[in-house]
This record gives sequence, C-alpha cells and structure tokens, in this order.
Amino acid sequence: MKRKHEQKRTPHASSGARRGKFGASILGPRNLSLEAENRDKLAPPPTDAGTMPNLKWSFADSHMRLEEGGWARQVTVRELSIAKELAAVNMRLEAGAIRELHWHKESEWAYMLKGRARITAVDQSYRTFADDVVEGDLWFFPAGIPHSIQGLEKDGCEFLLVFDDGSFDENKTFLLSDVISHMPKEVLAKNFGVSASAFAKIPEKELYIFQSQVPGPLTADRLAGAGPVPQWFSYRMPTQQPIRTKSGSIRIVDSKIFGASKTIAAALVEIQPGGMRELHWHGNGDELQYYLSGQGRMTVFNADANAATIDFQAGDVGYVPCFMPHYVENTGITTLRFLELFRSDHFEDISLAQWLALTPHELVRAHLNISESVLAKIPRRDTPIVPD
Ligand code: MN
Ligand code: MN
Repeated sequence: MKRKHEQKRTPHASSGARRGKFGASILGPRNLSLEAENRDKLAPPPTDAGTMPNLKWSFADSHMRLEEGGWARQVTVRELSIAKELAAVNMRLEAGAIRELHWHKESEWAYMLKGRARITAVDQSYRTFADDVVEGDLWFFPAGIPHSIQGLEKDGCEFLLVFDDGSFDENKTFLLSDVISHMPKEVLAKNFGVSASAFAKIPEKELYIFQSQVPGPLTADRLAGAGPVPQWFSYRMPTQQPIRTKSGSIRIVDSKIFGASKTIAAALVEIQPGGMRELHWHGNGDELQYYLSGQGRMTVFNADANAATIDFQAGDVGYVPCFMPHYVENTGITTLRFLELFRSDHFEDISLAQWLALTPHELVRAHLNISESVLAKIPRRDTPIVPD
C-alpha cells in the first residue's frame, strides 16, 4: 500500500506543472514551498475535473491575534467561504493566562492539543462546572452558557475550538469586561447593591486574553451553586477504546456518549503510513477536519463530474460539504492523525464499499463491469473504518 515513488512527488524548480505528457514548465513567479505542500494541486491526478470550491485553509494563513500571555487565530466562513456550518479557532494560553469569562451565540466544542487548562461554567439553573483538562480531552459549552479557560502549569495549553456556525467570530463574543464597561456605573451600583465607587477600577477596554496567576487546587474552584451540571461539560477521549484495524483506528464521540455535546459530533482518526480512511460520505452535515499530525491527501467528488484532490499536513483545516464522497489517504511516513467534526448530535457515514457489498451483486456488476470477486472480498462491517 505504500507509495512507491514518494520522492518523485516532491516538486522542484525544474519540474513545473506536469503529469506525463500533460502540462508544462512554469516560467513565471513561483512559491516553491507552497507548491511542495500542494502537490496534487500543482499536478492533479487525471481523475480530478471541473470546478470545486476551495476546501482547505491552513491556520498558518490566518491572522494571529496576539495578547499578553496568549494568542488566537480562526478559520471561519470569512477565511474559507465553503465553511458555512462550522468554524474553528486555535488558541494558546500560557500558564496563568485567562481567556476571559464570556459566552457566545454558538456552542463551543474543544480538543486539547497540548498542556493543561482549568475550565469553568455556570448553567441556567446555577449549577456549576469546573474541571482541569489535559491533552486529548474534550469540552463542550452550549450556546449562551458563560465560561472561562485558563492555562495551568507548567507551560499553559493550546487547544482547538469548533463552533456550530461558520459565521462565528472569535472577536465578537460577549466578554465580562465589555458588558460591565458598557453599563452606567449607577446601574452597576444598583445591580450589586453597593456604591458606584466599587466600580472605579473596572477595565476600560476588553481583556479577552490576559495574564494572571495560576489558580489553586481544582477542589477549591468547584463552587457548590445548585449542584454540578447534570451533563458534564468535559470528556476524556484518550480513555476511550478505539475501533482498530491493522491500518489505523477511529474514536467516535457524539451525544450518545458525551451527553453535553448536542450539536457537535466528532471522530479522531489515526491512519498508518500507506493506509486510508475508506471512501464514504455523510448525510447529516458538512465535515470540518483538523489535521493533528502527519501528511495526507483527500479527493472530494461533487455531482456532475467535479472532483478535486487536496494535500494536508498538521495545522490544516479541511472541509467536505454534506453528501460529497471522499477518502483520506496517509501519504507520509508517520501516522496521520486528524479530527472529523460535524454539526450534529450523532456521527454517521455511509461506506461506498458496504453499500455495494449489500446491493445485489449482479446489479452492481451491470454498472461497473467488475468481477464478483471484488464484491465478495468486501468484509461486512457496521463501523466506519480504516481498512486493512
Ligand atoms: Mn468560548
Ligand atoms: Mn468523512
């Protein structure tokens, strides 16, 4: 299954845009490093055709918002115009740094990439949530629920956030400091039953991300309120046993096992070199992908003879509109790891191979002119898979 001529796929200045007798050298200005990352755009496979929307955005192309103790960057419908259902944010908080207490119109799903964070929230019934999350852990804050994130020792944290609306804007959330600074001081005094002077030192502009002290033990931050939230807002994905094959594994986390996560379903896919996530599609929403490590490529087909092949590496976001069939192949020499995210309460997909295996074989053969042995070889499965 390994690619035989890996080195031949690396473009260099003289190779130009060629595939066999097609194409030609490039005489004009070039961006060689970008071309090297997008080999299947430079010289697409002959099966690619027509006009496809852009389905890739690298976080490296996103504007960085730099703050004291952290940063944030985003991939929304503004960066990637096809991304109407889902948006992604990549954020870093140093130890002690706080993503300000806030809420938003969209629900927030998160995957901890590195490090540790303390997260807190309070729900509509004044039930409380506080937890420390580590690498691989998830959290989910429903729309409107106020929450915070703070980096812990030693080096804080970095995480991926996914929102259930592509028009989400990380710069337009409801921030505590912003709310307070836009209320008349005498109203604040009345609201809290104190004198207006108590608010003399409130921040003049929003804090958003700011440096603070590392918090104490978690137990001290677990305030009683009306009890704990009934559905815990965090989930330890690394403790879940994946569905495994020789070529990879898949962990699926949706509202069936992570009850709070009502509007985002997720899968963590690992593919060994040479392996691939089989050809499939989804009927329950667009798929946003986030590439964690390794190197891969995906072909996405749209109806009416349109198809595009796209290369991915760590830090890239991929997007597959609902119903469009696709595969993801590991084209590198290390494990390819990526997340699949859907705006849905459940994960689902349809495997092209399973569909054909369960359709009268004579009917399939009448279409494709393939031998019975191809169909007979397809193993029966009920779960999405990285085939052996
Ligand atoms: Mn948030
Ligand atoms: Mn998929």
